[in-house]
Amino acid sequence: MSLSYGRDLFMTPGPSIVPDRVLNAMHRAAPNIYEGDLVETTDRILDNLRKVARTTGDPTIYISNGHGVWEAALHNVLQPGDKVLCLATGIFGHGWANVAATMGIEVELIDFGTSGSFDPEKVAEVLRADTGQIKAVLATHTDTSSSVTNDIAALRAAIDETGHHALLMVDCIASLGCEPFEMDAWGVDVMVAGCQKGLMVPPGVAFTFHNKKAAEVSESTQKLSPYWDWIPRTDPDHMYMRFNGTPPTHHLFGLEESLKMLVDEEGIENVWARHAKQAQAVWAAVDTWASAGAIRCNVHNIADRSLAVTTIISDTVNLTPLHSWCQKTAGLTLGVGIGFGDYESHQIFRIGHMGHMNTVMLLGALATIEAGLSALQIPHGEGAIAAAAKVLSS
Ligand SMILES: *Cc1c(COP(=O)(O)O)cnc(C)c1O
Repeated sequence: MSLSYGRDLFMTPGPSIVPDRVLNAMHRAAPNIYEGDLVETTDRILDNLRKVARTTGDPTIYISNGHGVWEAALHNVLQPGDKVLCLATGIFGHGWANVAATMGIEVELIDFGTSGSFDPEKVAEVLRADTGQIKAVLATHTDTSSSVTNDIAALRAAIDETGHHALLMVDCIASLGCEPFEMDAWGVDVMVAGCQKGLMVPPGVAFTFHNKKAAEVSESTQKLSPYWDWIPRTDPDHMYMRFNGTPPTHHLFGLEESLKMLVDEEGIENVWARHAKQAQAVWAAVDTWASAGAIRCNVHNIADRSLAVTTIISDTVNLTPLHSWCQKTAGLTLGVGIGFGDYESHQIFRIGHMGHMNTVMLLGALATIEAGLSALQIPHGEGAIAAAAKVLSS
C-alpha cells in the first residue's frame, strides 16, 4: 500500500524547495529587458547578494549552474599553464580540480579524505615549499557529497602565515545562505555559488564574487571566453552587458524575492541560526539511529559537519531500498548517495536540510525515514524522533 497521497516532500541537497513566494514572484509577464524595473531589480539583487556573502566585492550573475561558475571563476584569474592547489574533502572538490585540469591549468591536489575537514597546516607546508608557481588555492566550503564543512578562516590564516600570494577561491555552492560565511572577514578572494540551494530559486543562475585583489589579477589575465569574462558584466555600459545577452528575467524576479526573504526580512544571521538548529535536530536523530550500528553520520566530528546537508553511510546495509521506500511509499525524496572512498553509492543517502523548511517538514522527513528503517528491518536505535523534537523545542 502506498501512503504517498498528498504533497511530496523534497529533502535533497539541491535543488532545494522553492518557496511559493518565489514561484509567485516569477509568475508574471515578461518585462522590458533594456530599461526600467529590471535594471533596478538587478541592482537590488546585487546589493543583497553582497549582504549574503558579507562582502563589498563584486558579484556577477551568470545564466548557468554551479559547474559553469567553477569554470567562470577559473577563467577570470588563471591561464592555461598556471598552477593551482586544490583541496578535496569529497567529490565536488575533485570536480572543481578536474575542471581546472581540463582548462589546461596545472593541478596539485591534496585529498583530505571524505570524513573530516582539511588540515590548514598541510596546505601551509605545500605553500612554503612553493617557489611562486601556485597562483590560487581552491577550496570547497561544504562538500555536498560527504557533508564535510571546512574552516575557511583557518585556511586563510594558514596561507597568510606563509606569506604566500596565492588567491583563495572558495566553492560555496552548497553553503551560501545556509552556513556562516564571511567573504571579506575571512579574506576570500573569489567565491562561487548557485541559486538552487540555500537561495531557494529553481536552477538556472549562478554567481561569482570577487574582491579587489582578484579584480587586479583578472585585468591582466587573457580571456579566451567572452561569455565568462566578468569585467564587462561588473561595470556595464548597458544592461545587456551584465548578462552578456538576454537577462534571466524570471529567475531575477524569483531571486529578488528569495533575497528579500533571507536578507531584508529574516536577516542572514538568523538564517544561519535556523539552519544550525535544524541541522542539530537531524544529527540528534541520526546519531540515535546509529547506536544500533547499521547507519551513521559520515562525518563524526560535529565541528566538521555541514549545516545544510547530512550524509548517512552504512558499512553493512544496502540503502537504495530505503531511498526508494521513502520516495515511492511515503512521498519523501532524499538525496541519493554519491560514492566516495570505500563507499559505493548504495551505502549512502543524504538528507538535504537547506533552504525553505520548517519543523513540520523536518520532523516529517525524519519520522518517515524511521518508518522506512522499520519497514525494511534496518537496525536503528530507539528515540530518534524524540531526540530531534527535543532539539527543536529548545
Ligand atoms: C551542487 C554543487 C555543485 C555543482 O552545482 P551544479 O549546479 O549541479 O552544477 C558544485 N559544488 C558544490 C559544493 C555543490 O553543492
